[in-house]
This record gives sequence, C-alpha cells and structure tokens, in this order.
Amino acid sequence: MSEFSESDERRTLRKEVARLAKGYGRDYFVGQARSGGKTTDLWLEIGKNGYLGINIPEEYGGGGGGIGDIAAVCEELAAQGCPLLMMVVSPAICGTVISRYGTEEQKKRWLPGIADGSSTMAFAITEPDAGTNTHNITTTARRDGDEWVLNGRKIYISGVDEADNVLVVSRTEDARTGKLKPCLFVVPTDAEGLEYKPIPMEIVSPELQFQVFIDDVRLPADALVGDEDGGLVQLFAGLNPERIMAASFSTGLARYALDKATAYAKERVVFKDAIGSHQAIAHPLAQSHIEIELARLMTQKAAALYDAGDDMGAGEAANMAKYAAAEAACDAADRAVQTHGGNGITQEYGMAGLLVATRAGRIAPVSREMILNFVAMHSLGLPKSY
Ligand SMILES: Cc1cc2nc3c(=O)[nH]c(=O)nc-3n(C[C@H](O)[C@H](O)[C@H](O)COP(=O)(O)OP(=O)(O)OC[C@H]3O[C@@H](n4cnc5c(N)ncnc54)[C@H](O)[C@@H]3O)c2cc1C
Repeated sequence: MSEFSESDERRTLRKEVARLAKGYGRDYFVGQARSGGKTTDLWLEIGKNGYLGINIPEEYGGGGGGIGDIAAVCEELAAQGCPLLMMVVSPAICGTVISRYGTEEQKKRWLPGIADGSSTMAFAITEPDAGTNTHNITTTARRDGDEWVLNGRKIYISGVDEADNVLVVSRTEDARTGKLKPCLFVVPTDAEGLEYKPIPMEIVSPELQFQVFIDDVRLPADALVGDEDGGLVQLFAGLNPERIMAASFSTGLARYALDKATAYAKERVVFKDAIGSHQAIAHPLAQSHIEIELARLMTQKAAALYDAGDDMGAGEAANMAKYAAAEAACDAADRAVQTHGGNGITQEYGMAGLLVATRAGRIAPVSREMILNFVAMHSLGLPKSY
C-alpha cells in the first residue's frame, strides 16, 4: 500500500458513513431546512454508530480515533448532501479542547454527550466589533469569590439553539492591556443572563447562526476549561481541527455539486449529444475534479500531521487545505449551476443553494484573506501586513 492513500480502515469508515448518509440525502437536509426542522435524527444516528465521537478518547465514550477520522465522516456526510456544521464545532473543536485540556471531571461530564450526540456543544469566539481580529475580543470573565461572572457579545454562533452548552472564548479582566489572554468557559445555553437571537441567513441549512448576549452570567469555578494562563495554546488546539473540518466540509460539498453536475451533463441532450460532450461543459468539471482531489490530499496531510502531534506543521497544512477546499467548492458549485442551465437556479435541482453554502467557506471559520496573510508571513517569510 502506498503511503499516499488512506488506511483500509479509514476507507471502510468513509463507505459506511456514505451509506448511512445516503439514507437521508439532500432532500431530507433541504426539507428540514425549509420547514424549520432539524437534523437531529441523522445527528443521533451518526452518534449511535460511533461516528460523531470517533475522535474522542475511548474512556470518555468516543472511538479513540483522530481528526483524520472525524474529518472523513464530515466529508462523506457533506458529499451526500448533508453537511453538518455542528460536527466542526461540537466534537472537533470543543471535543478536542476538552480532551486535551479539560480536567478529569470535565472530560467525564461533557465528552460522552458530545460523542453520542445527546449533548451538543457550540463554540463562540467571533464578536461584532472584533471580527477577524480575535485579539480584540472583549468578552470578559471576572472572578467573584469561587465563581466567574461573564459579560460580552458574540455573533454568527452556529447551532446555539441545538446545543446544551457553548464553549465561550473570553479573556480575563486583568489581561485587558492588549495581548490576548483568552480563556475558555463552558456556558450552559439555558444559563441565566444568556440570550440568543437567530440571524436571518441566506444559507439553506437547518443549522442556524445566532447573536449571543452574555450579561452577568455566573459560572462555577470549574466552568473554566484548562489553565487561565495557557489560553492561547488551548485555543489553537481547537483551531487546527476546525480548519481541517472546514476543509472536509467544503470538499464534501464540492463532491456533491460535481457528482450532480456530472450526472446531469451525461443525460441532458440539447444538440446532437449530451452536453457533457462539449468541452465547455466537460473541462470545468474536470478542473473541479482536480481541484477537489488536490484539496482532499492537503486536508488528509493536515490531519495526518495533526494526529501525529505536529501542531506547527499541521497549522500550515490546515490553513492551506482550508483555503484550497473553499476555493474548489465555490468553483464546483458555480460550475454545477452553469451545467444545469436554468435548472441550476430551481429549487427542484437545488444547485443554487450550494453557491451560498460553499461561499461561506471562503469567510468562515477563517477568511481566505487571513489564510493568505498567514501563508505570506509564515510560509514565505514576508512581513506581517496587519
Ligand atoms: C455560516 C457561518 C457560521 C459561523 N459559525 C461560527 C461559530 O459557530 N462560532 C464563531 O465563533 N463564529 C462563527 N462564524 C463567524 C466567522 O468565523 C466570521 O464570520 C469570520 O471569522 C470573519 O469575521 P467577520 O465576519 O467579522 O469579518 P470581518 O473581520 O469584518 O472581515 C471582513 C472582510 O475583511 C477581510 N479582512 C479583515 N482583516 C483583514 C486583514 N488584516 N487582511 C486582509 N483582509 C482582512 C476579511 O477577510 C473579510 O473578507 C460563522 C460565520 C458564518 C458565515
């Protein structure tokens, strides 16, 4: 077996997840989105089968695998038209941070629910005024006796309505002087003082984004995950998995768009032969196939580096993978629409909705510009531009 292919076990995992997801499919996902429903059935089924918590340590109810495994699950779901954003957030970001930095008590309390899907955890870092510049976040935790008191505002937080808890990136009060000293708190979504409001988005998805208002939310001492002073390292522990998962989310969606476009190009005849016989249709699809495969390869490399414990190497690869995957997905969606002609804009064929869904990958969780900044600076040694 060549070292460039995934293990047999990983490939079997992909097949099993694809089979399960196919039973739900795009119609289920879009139907739930348009009717205000949720994907809870699918979520719990992947949980029950051990796929949702595949990266969580076995002793806390998970599968003991790595980011490469959960990224494969995420990609295969999306490739069947069921992209689950909360997989990026709950098991991959929150699950990783708690597995790596939580106390024994915290791991026992939160990981089993994250793994089996019975207790989802959202993740909140983005703030209205700080935006991309997370060093400027102002959500602040103040000590009050044995407790913490949290205040702040978050925006675009996915799935708060489906989550029991949200992992909130905050900073400690005495660290307001400039340098980011983040610290992470698990906040129950029903905590007194926490409110959330949906943001009307143009994405066709059952998973919604929210504004979150945190006003004097009181938390017990053990809501703080990890060390008050080790926040930055702990935060980064969650960000590489986030990028690898976002890349997989994008390559999965890209595969879905390309599969649909290819099938349509084989069937639709307007002149003598199927439209796929025209190079104007075939070449862009072939280009997408190449771009998707390249992005998948880099995603797998990033996951392999991360799972081998090389956080620095994984950082560069995860950024590049996320960039490549988002670009590949946007182009694949656009080409899929074009291949479908007028049908590309109908709800029946569902291609146009992919334009926005894939477009989000250029913005979140980290924008393409910030990845280019990262690569210019860290990979090429160019001066920091911001
Ligand atoms: C669908 C979706 C789901 C999300 N889910 C979550 C979630 O669950 N939790 C969470 O915390 N956040 C979430 N987000 C937020 C997301 O991470 C942010 O939208 C993203 O980080 C960009 O921040 P911003 O929207 O404030 O853009 P801004 O920071 O206002 O940036 C605007 C534009 O300016 C560019 N820009 C800014 N600074 C620079 C610079 N120095 N150099 C070059 N260009 C620059 C950016 O790249 C971008 O194109 C989600 C967003 C979306 C769209």
